[in-house]
Amino acid sequence: MGESFSEKRVAEGLDFDPEKTAVLVVDMLNEFLEEGGVMVLAEGRELYGPLTRLFETARGARVPVIWVCDEHPEQDKEFDKRIPHCIEGSWGARVVDALKPEEGEYRVRKRRYSGFYETDLDLRLRELGIHTLITTGIVTNICVRSTVHDAFFRGYKVIVPTECVAATSHREQESSLYDIETHFGVVAPLEDVLRALERRSSGVESTARSAS
Ligand code: ZN
Repeated sequence: MGESFSEKRVAEGLDFDPEKTAVLVVDMLNEFLEEGGVMVLAEGRELYGPLTRLFETARGARVPVIWVCDEHPEQDKEFDKRIPHCIEGSWGARVVDALKPEEGEYRVRKRRYSGFYETDLDLRLRELGIHTLITTGIVTNICVRSTVHDAFFRGYKVIVPTECVAATSHREQESSLYDIETHFGVVAPLEDVLRALERRSSGVESTARSAS
């Protein structure tokens, strides 16, 4: 039924330039992941391993890792819908200890689900000359998805490594990844994304060597 609509898509590959690529890490915060948080998705901890691998490869290829983090004042209209969470300056609003941001990595504070809404993320990405966003984090069906939508609307190429995002349920994971794949970007296994990052960075080096 809907497939015949959704499958009218243009095949997009993992063809991207690491020099114009950034990794976005959405909401890997104590509040959403660790014991004591007010809104915990325990399954999200399964992302720690895959994300660590992605960060290592990205940093090795000098691809910036950008932390997109929920951080609210005590009164915020988002709390009309969701219980208060990630209050600025609190433990809950901090990135989990398992994933240490490196010094100098940029943190974008957001007050809504999308990392682009009323933040300076787009400005920062344009200053860095970024065209491609490897988008990761939680939860696939809300904040990751809102961020992916806004990224696509602004003309970025979006790549989502399957093992680096978690949703509120299996159904939501499948549904959001299907919609992202058919309407907004590329959904691919982490291994393929790592290979593309590695291949492209070593390819650039060997071209530079043979030219000299
Ligand atoms: Zn929030």
